[in-house]
Amino acid sequence: MKLFFKYIKNKLLKAITILVVLIVAFSPNFTFAWSGKGHVIITRMAVKLIIDDPNMPSELKAILIEGLGTKNKLFQFESYINDTSNLRTFDAGLDSFSIRPDTLTASKSPIPAFGISEPLTHYMDTEFFQSDVERQKFLPNGANKIKPTDLPRNPKDERYQKAGFITFRTEQCYKSLVSSFKENYSNDQVFLWIGYLSHYVADSYQPFHSTIDYQGHECSCNKEREKKHNLHGDLEGLLFEDTSKTGQENREKFLKYFQAAIARLKENKKTETLDPYLVIQDALFSSYDYLPMLCRAGDIALGKENLDANKWFNYKEKIENREISVLEMKAERMAESTIKIRDLIIQAWNEAQSKNVH
Ligand SMILES: [Zn+2]
Ligand SMILES: [Zn+2]
Repeated sequence: MKLFFKYIKNKLLKAITILVVLIVAFSPNFTFAWSGKGHVIITRMAVKLIIDDPNMPSELKAILIEGLGTKNKLFQFESYINDTSNLRTFDAGLDSFSIRPDTLTASKSPIPAFGISEPLTHYMDTEFFQSDVERQKFLPNGANKIKPTDLPRNPKDERYQKAGFITFRTEQCYKSLVSSFKENYSNDQVFLWIGYLSHYVADSYQPFHSTIDYQGHECSCNKEREKKHNLHGDLEGLLFEDTSKTGQENREKFLKYFQAAIARLKENKKTETLDPYLVIQDALFSSYDYLPMLCRAGDIALGKENLDANKWFNYKEKIENREISVLEMKAERMAESTIKIRDLIIQAWNEAQSKNVH
């Protein structure tokens, strides 16, 4: 009898585990920031910029090509983003590692260095650093934005336990990449840290990763709704999942904007040494400035039931004397993160070479 109960208990536990895994995997809230495809596109483009640059060392290029698996990927951005049938499988190497931090979020993988687990590393709910508790929330006009001096560079500050560790985690990934290049125990280790670095840098450029209100629930379009709509995913996976004709058209527009922004930004070679912590801090602060616009785009695009993807992506506003649509903004933020990732990979490589002499 006892054995029988044990058998039933084990079966039940197994069934519950499977159910939980399924719920997590298919829940609409389980989204990859910029979506899995977005992270892969950013990583591949950063690699392409290094490989196309005649001034880059051939050893670094060879490692990156090995991490990609095939160089062909660098010429196939269009077919890659237009393949809406395959959103969840990723090639081994750089592709997989650039989305792995999101899969680790689901399993709450521990990060002992900071006494936290994975979900806390992808964002910063910046309003927690408002000294006035009343202001620790998002306002649709963006008025509760903090100042850079409000953020202490001390991971032990307990507010980070709620707000998130993206600044510190990115810095840690960068350092791990430098030592991986230097020690080179295996190229897989290098791919892992490039992938992770790419992931977190890209996350910091996603406006909704800089606020407590990461789903846009405080936007007026959501205020009156009984069932709140999550705008976060609309800025990330929606573009790559949309199988309609307008979805296809928007993807083509996106790729045009993305490549144009890359062409414009890639010549700005950095002159000073980048501090990965400050790269993330700056990205979070510039991200925050787009949140009011995203609320207004939601006001236009969100209907009674669903969000109109076409209205959402093509909503335009004047920001800093320039008219820009949500789609252009998405493309530009992804392009800006790509350039920073390129620069950090090159800097890590150079730093590793110079540290060879003890
Ligand atoms: Zn996200
Ligand atoms: Zn993420």
